[in-house]
Amino acid sequence: MSQKPDVTLETLHKIFTIPESEDSTLGQIEKKISENLLGFLKEHIVSAETTPANLERMFREFKVPEDPVFVSEQAEFLLNNVVSQSVHTASPRFVGHMTSALPYFMLPLSKMMIALNQNLVKIETSKSFTPLERQVIGMVHHLIYGNSTMFYKRHTQDHEVALGTFCSNGTIANITSLWVALNKCFPPRKDFAGVSEDGLHTALQEYEKDGAVILVSQRGHYSLSKAANLLGIGKRNLISIPTDDRNKIQVDVLREQVLRFKQENKAIIAIVGIAGTTETGSVDPLSKIADLCQAEDIHFHVDAAWGGPTLFSSTHRSKLRGIETADSVTFDAHKQLYVPMGAAFAVFRDKGDLACIEHHAEYIIRKGSRDLGRKSLEGSRPGMAMLVHSGFRIIGRRGYEMLIDMGIDKAQLFAKMIQEAPDFELITKPELNILTYRYVPENVQKVLGTASYEEQRRLNDHLNRLTVTIQKEQRDKGKNFVSRTALQPVKYDRKTINVFRVVLANPLTKEKHLLEILDEQRKIARTLMRGESWSKTGT
Ligand SMILES: *Cc1c(COP(=O)(O)O)cnc(C)c1O
Repeated sequence: MSQKPDVTLETLHKIFTIPESEDSTLGQIEKKISENLLGFLKEHIVSAETTPANLERMFREFKVPEDPVFVSEQAEFLLNNVVSQSVHTASPRFVGHMTSALPYFMLPLSKMMIALNQNLVKIETSKSFTPLERQVIGMVHHLIYGNSTMFYKRHTQDHEVALGTFCSNGTIANITSLWVALNKCFPPRKDFAGVSEDGLHTALQEYEKDGAVILVSQRGHYSLSKAANLLGIGKRNLISIPTDDRNKIQVDVLREQVLRFKQENKAIIAIVGIAGTTETGSVDPLSKIADLCQAEDIHFHVDAAWGGPTLFSSTHRSKLRGIETADSVTFDAHKQLYVPMGAAFAVFRDKGDLACIEHHAEYIIRKGSRDLGRKSLEGSRPGMAMLVHSGFRIIGRRGYEMLIDMGIDKAQLFAKMIQEAPDFELITKPELNILTYRYVPENVQKVLGTASYEEQRRLNDHLNRLTVTIQKEQRDKGKNFVSRTALQPVKYDRKTINVFRVVLANPLTKEKHLLEILDEQRKIARTLMRGESWSKTGT
């Protein structure tokens, strides 16, 4: 048995006041991380194959340990069991995630943020962090809406209004936006105190509606369905509108559905346009949706959790045209702003919109105060805005533009590599920096195009299984990683097709890494198919 620390006030006091020495395990870890982060990750994250069941066995103890251990023992444990078995999300070969390598300065600054441990819920525990957070919200608002200098001078720091709210993630931002939309749909009047006070049942009665719906394309993020659930609208009333062959919402179908719901006397809480779908990076025709929303007086929410930072790019920002007409926008910072996890925004065109969800408590977030907690879904929140602020200043608009342009260029390059390879099939072209594809042996590709409906279906079933197996094997080998999703391409009569999904946001990813990914997939596929016969025309 290793030695255990005594449980005395003195030792407890020590962990609050005295840092580990430089040559301790933790000291060494800190040193390595700050000197060579990628080296540290590469050295300590092993890709040794182990099953989830094996890992679960290591974490079965259910009682809080009675006796403490030394910091160094825990640091050792974490290195060997947790760090080693974590995912190397910063690797240039891991192109399946929406979070990638972080800029170096985020590490020491995060440490400083944690050291300060401010709580943004109220000004008493955040002081300078409150105007700082308001400033970055203002910057994101300006990036999207581009109002006048006068507007931002007057309102960015005006605690009577709110240009948006900082959130822990895009899910919370989507929920917050739809929460506001619901309240705007059923405002207080006469004896009715509003949906927040009286609830959805009374609201529907008061406004003589037979239910409420939210409309979004079939590629909508699942957080919208959580929102429909939480707001009491019901997941089945999140209406899925079909997409076209470019994975964009079909606006004519959307229009028909709006008319149908109006005839059915349903309240349409919001229409959601997506600026960069999670699976394919497609952008909905935002201007057309905006026109419809304006004509029908419906709240227009844009989910730009992924695609929002595209606005930094002079070349590509026009792809999001129409976003400036949205009533609310979700914008993630922990994806394409390269901020550590836990940072997003919900911004509102109308500076008064957030007032409808305002709430107070006596001991905290008092009426008329500067407390940001008055208008947020979340309670205690860390000072993540400091990291967004730092990204904005250290990378700058022009730096972000370069990162965005680079990602889109790389996605186009990868798409070309796939199209030129005889044994891969590009399924969705990148509009932003996300694309999907699959492995299809050359001879199968030849027959697939001209095959009968039945034959095509049979081959696609086979290919679907192959895609899943290749993706899993590649993941388990631990060297390269792409993710996987299922789409319904028009090309294959909207039958479900499994595809590899690649997100090109890591600036460290090079052409050679992309070549390696394809090579490894090809090798895995060939081994898997050895001896298999695929089609009647022979393989
Ligand atoms: C990632 C994403 C979300 C959810 O954001 P989280 O930060 O993961 O909660 C919502 N919508 C879209 C389009 C996304 O890509």
